[in-house]
Amino acid sequence: MTLIVKEIRAKTILSKSKIYPYVVNPYTGCQHACSYCYARFMKRVTGHREPWGEFVDVKINAAELLRKEIKKKKRAGVWVSGVCDPYQPLEAEYRLTRQCLEILARNDWPVIIQTRSPLVLRDMDIIQDARDFEVGLSVTTADDAIRKLFEPNAPKIEDRIAALDTLHRAGIRTYAMIAPVLPGAEGLAELLKGKIDYVIIDRMNYHYADWVYRKYGLLDKLSDDYYYRVRQELASL
Ligand code: SF4
Repeated sequence: MTLIVKEIRAKTILSKSKIYPYVVNPYTGCQHACSYCYARFMKRVTGHREPWGEFVDVKINAAELLRKEIKKKKRAGVWVSGVCDPYQPLEAEYRLTRQCLEILARNDWPVIIQTRSPLVLRDMDIIQDARDFEVGLSVTTADDAIRKLFEPNAPKIEDRIAALDTLHRAGIRTYAMIAPVLPGAEGLAELLKGKIDYVIIDRMNYHYADWVYRKYGLLDKLSDDYYYRVRQELASL
């Protein structure tokens, strides 16, 4: 897969969000390229023509903007991130998410981190010292063979669960985001037990990934029965 990386200077970084008061996206585009990703609407918004997952704009002035913007805005929860994974592989090199977290922690803003990557463990020093940070790992199935079909470029499921375990043991508030509920999600409750403070389960719009369900004969896993069975299992957590 080709990847076109462009360093850009963004105009703003601390944006309003419908889910949490604010959202910070240090990148436009996401190397994880999940087949069902709703964030591909960003292609339209930003005028990108490349396939989703094959471009990333790196907002190199993210920290500089955030430092200025938090002085002008009212302190409230910040979601990191909404339309990209803040710990996609490029973050290992650019460290923009880390810089933004440092600023938010220093100014005592609440932060909700959401990722599919154990790279978040690199920033445990900041997260642990902050007063009101929590970390969610998206875990969409218990079966890594299924993960490979839908999220071939994202980290392994066992590595995400291990990251939750490490964070939770360190006293950090953790959650699992089960969205979408992919096939093979039965058994997730067992894997997550004792590693999270809460779970979010969301039935997302799957239509981008319909072809994957069709190609691998998994259409029965889009049924209400399947969804409610998994939801009931997770309710026991
Ligand atoms: S990690 Fe999140 S933002 Fe990135 S492609 Fe997957 S669903 Fe989309």
